[in-house]
Amino acid sequence: MNREDLLKIPKLGFGLMRLPKKNGEIDINRVNTMVDAYMKNGFTYFDTAYVYQGSEVALRKSLVERYPRDSFFVADKMPGWVLNSKEDLLKVFDEQRKRTGLDYFDFYLLHSIEKSNLDKYNKYDCWEWGLKMKEKGLIRNFGFSFHDTPELLDQLLTEHPEVDFVQLQINYIDWDSNTVHSGKCYEVARRHNKPIIIMEPVKGGNLASLRPEIEKKMKAVTPDKSIASWAMRFCATLDGVMVVLSGMSTEEQMNDNINTIKNLVPFSDAEKACLKEVIDDILNTPTVGCTGCRYCVDGCPNQIKIPDIIKTYNSYLTYGDHEQYHSAYKEAAGDGHRAGDCIACGQCESICPQHLEITDILKKASKVFD
Ligand code: SF4
Ligand code: SF4
Repeated sequence: MNREDLLKIPKLGFGLMRLPKKNGEIDINRVNTMVDAYMKNGFTYFDTAYVYQGSEVALRKSLVERYPRDSFFVADKMPGWVLNSKEDLLKVFDEQRKRTGLDYFDFYLLHSIEKSNLDKYNKYDCWEWGLKMKEKGLIRNFGFSFHDTPELLDQLLTEHPEVDFVQLQINYIDWDSNTVHSGKCYEVARRHNKPIIIMEPVKGGNLASLRPEIEKKMKAVTPDKSIASWAMRFCATLDGVMVVLSGMSTEEQMNDNINTIKNLVPFSDAEKACLKEVIDDILNTPTVGCTGCRYCVDGCPNQIKIPDIIKTYNSYLTYGDHEQYHSAYKEAAGDGHRAGDCIACGQCESICPQHLEITDILKKASKVFD
């Protein structure tokens, strides 16, 4: 497909990373309902990966076995980090074709490239391999997903002008971030004239709901639109964006996204001003200045994972109350190691280079999570 055709694809992509589950297994009946709603509304782009557990098989059952091949696009990805030889490329690829029931992939990506795994992709000639697969018709469009600096992105797009598109992590909170670099990476991709697929537009669900006082501001400007819709609109209205992926887990999220993208309108001046305020509010949230050095962890008599708890508590302070923070807390704080199990011995405070009042912080975290 040429660049113009890629940019004509309906902009909502169905990310299959967080499919609904029942008794620990992907709930195919619910996935069928979501696929049907998505297709019925004219959307076509499905995003799976070798490492999204069960997702390739679910795609086969819910989409490939139920819809004609020419009515949808599937993107799959090669995880460089599982490769131990050049031969593994074909092994993984064949397994993906078997799992999905597809002869070819419309889009194929080198998965999650960053400095630390780039060597593997180079070592096994993954770039050349991708082109060969394209020549054979087994891949129709070849690209990569990326999680690193704009400088590295620029280098890769210069070294590999052959790629058809690039997938980037973009959302309104990370636009000026010095770690995610959404805005700068977007500009690099634009300079190289590559269609952009956006991942994590809602920042892993963090922007789907916000602190009550922030939501109130947004609702005052646009009462009838969901909080998540602001994040989707921000991404979908950027120039050169081919698809905005959303890892949808519920019919409700699906319907909201369909509604947002089908009726896509740019932000009004009032909405732009509001979003700027929202971004400032979020970025200026006072949080606990823990650097994650972990000096405090070993000496805690109750083995409380202090930095992990603080990290989760900071997310709560920043974005408001999300179920995912409670799950993250549960994972960090098992029985006997909860924030509330702190006995205020003071060991951690005596060693913390940031001089944090850890016992007090843990009391507050305990009120939220225990
Ligand atoms: S004050 Fe609490 S968190 Fe810190 S070392 Fe003692 S028990 Fe652990
Ligand atoms: S010592 Fe202080 S800064 Fe380091 S991880 Fe513990 S709480 Fe955070």
